[in-house]
Amino acid sequence: MNTAMLDFDDAQRRLSEAGNAPSTTETCTLFDAFGRVLAEDIVARVDLPPADNSAMDGYAIRFADYGPERALPVQQRCFAGQTPEALKPEQTIRLFTGCVMPDGADTIVMQENVVEQDGAITLTQVPILGEHVRKRGEDVEQDQQILTTGTVLHTGQIALLASQGIHEVKVYPRLKVGILTTGDELVNPGQPLGPAQIYNSNGAMLAGLVAQIGGVVCQTLHAADTHEAIESAFLTLLAECDLVLTVGGVSVGEKDLVKPVLELLGGTLDLWRVCMKPGKPVALAQVRNKPVVCLPGNPVSAFVVFGLLVSPLVRRLQGRTDLFPPICYGRLRTSKSFHETREEFLRVQCKPSRSGLPALVPYELQGSAIISALPWASGLARIPVNTTVSDDDVVAYYDFAHWLS
Ligand code: AMP
Ligand code: MG
Repeated sequence: MNTAMLDFDDAQRRLSEAGNAPSTTETCTLFDAFGRVLAEDIVARVDLPPADNSAMDGYAIRFADYGPERALPVQQRCFAGQTPEALKPEQTIRLFTGCVMPDGADTIVMQENVVEQDGAITLTQVPILGEHVRKRGEDVEQDQQILTTGTVLHTGQIALLASQGIHEVKVYPRLKVGILTTGDELVNPGQPLGPAQIYNSNGAMLAGLVAQIGGVVCQTLHAADTHEAIESAFLTLLAECDLVLTVGGVSVGEKDLVKPVLELLGGTLDLWRVCMKPGKPVALAQVRNKPVVCLPGNPVSAFVVFGLLVSPLVRRLQGRTDLFPPICYGRLRTSKSFHETREEFLRVQCKPSRSGLPALVPYELQGSAIISALPWASGLARIPVNTTVSDDDVVAYYDFAHWLS
């Protein structure tokens, strides 16, 4: 086993490289595609819009026919979905939003700028050549690449696919994740709490985090601190899942049995002391060709390590191409000296400002077991090692909205 001190960026990069995109794909309809990861490049099949059409309820005219007092007889009334006649000289066609432009017409006059009387119109304002016409292909051109492999399908992407007449897409299978919590002191919620026990908050929390990032939790198991219990849980999870997350039991205590069991199962294991606070002990193993990531037991540490260190690996295993969400910046609302050898990730609330960078307000208690910070915070402020910050200093900010999606 290799035990190393690693800085945060190295640990994040190395974890992100610990897996590959899925080797299989499946097909799903657009109605089931939300949140799925595209497994093919998509090229536009048609121009969008496919023909010039009207952006307004109004009248199609030939611009050159306009005169201030000139009446233009209404040649036809045409509704969306109908094909208009070719526009005759010095006439107009009444049409509605989405109607295809008649041949010969080049301008739409909105109905508010027209008086229609006795089957003819006069314009109350001077028209502008080409106004209110949506041009064929102005949005998307046929044969243009519109989406690439590895894109997560959200509503915008789904709308674009639908506008192309595409009703099924190739996607990667959903990532199946197994969760293993450990610890004799833990009781699952719903059970009575015995003396010297606490509730297992990591199991449900991690299940939520996995769901939030688009994975499927196959099973969440809890094992007592014995070799047998941990081994049997691993065997169950490894048989079913693409990725196993464990939490707790990975430090250097006498009851920290996750590492020895992984080694017993033939796993190759790297244990890192990552220079981050919260979250120091993190292990990565490959067991039976599957990645296993061991998170620290304190709930805030597990949350932060999952969000910042493990989420890029999860995205890679899902087949996504954007592994590292954006890092934002804000002004930290505190004056303090920070830990000398580990970067700190403070639980903060981001308060947007009308002018300039947002304010980042730290939660009062920053211990790695302070769970009440989690629902309160909107993200994490990153403080470099050995730093004294003064009020309003600019620091990096990892927004949960990005890092946990
Ligand atoms: P460990 O790494 O197992 O020594 O755990 C570190 C700390 O996290 C201990 O105080 C544990 O009680 C706590 N802890 C570990 N797992 C959980 C969990 N699933 N839920 C809540 N607290 C936990
Ligand atoms: Mg433990």
